[in-house]
Amino acid sequence: MNNDIEKVLFTKEDIEAATDRLAKQLTKDYRDKNPLIVCVLTGAVLFTVDMIEKMDIMAQLDFIDVSTYFGGTESTGNLKLIHDLNKDVRGRNVLIMEDIVDSGHTLKFLIDLLKERGAKSIKTASMMDKPEGREYDVSVDYYGVRVPNEFLVGYGLDYKGYYRNLPYIGVLKPSVYQED
Ligand code: 5GP
Ligand code: MG
Repeated sequence: MNNDIEKVLFTKEDIEAATDRLAKQLTKDYRDKNPLIVCVLTGAVLFTVDMIEKMDIMAQLDFIDVSTYFGGTESTGNLKLIHDLNKDVRGRNVLIMEDIVDSGHTLKFLIDLLKERGAKSIKTASMMDKPEGREYDVSVDYYGVRVPNEFLVGYGLDYKGYYRNLPYIGVLKPSVYQED
């Protein structure tokens, strides 16, 4: 798996430093807020697990999965709820945990949904922020690292379902795509 990587952008140590810093900040900001942490499947699982372990507060965890609709070969740009939350968000301080925010489409969809369901507050923590990709007006309240407009894998990010378990964030060799 490691042989398929062209370059490493963020090492395991970089990731640890970023999650340490974020967890400290969130521990401060959410101390008395009893947040409901919403992990966006599947990519945000690694980040979420690291974060909740490092956050020294009372918090609950739930999962949601959203996926892009594919009509034929092209994405229609519509999003579909694949797996819903188990918990009621009404009156809760919700903290969305994402792997990466690119266009912002997924985040916009989630924020609108949780607002409609009566969440008291909604904020987002994302391991990666790709600001150049933004097409929707959403703000990432807490981010681990800013990333360039490239296709990345590792620390939750996949290519065809693989490479999520790389302990660092990197770029695939072009030959990996060309083989497909
Ligand atoms: P958005 O809705 O903000 O455009 O993108 C959200 C989703 O697109 C992410 O949760 C992730 O699944 C995917 N995505 C965006 N950029 C990348 C990337 O560089 N690599 C991978 N593997 N997925 C990405
Ligand atoms: Mg995601």
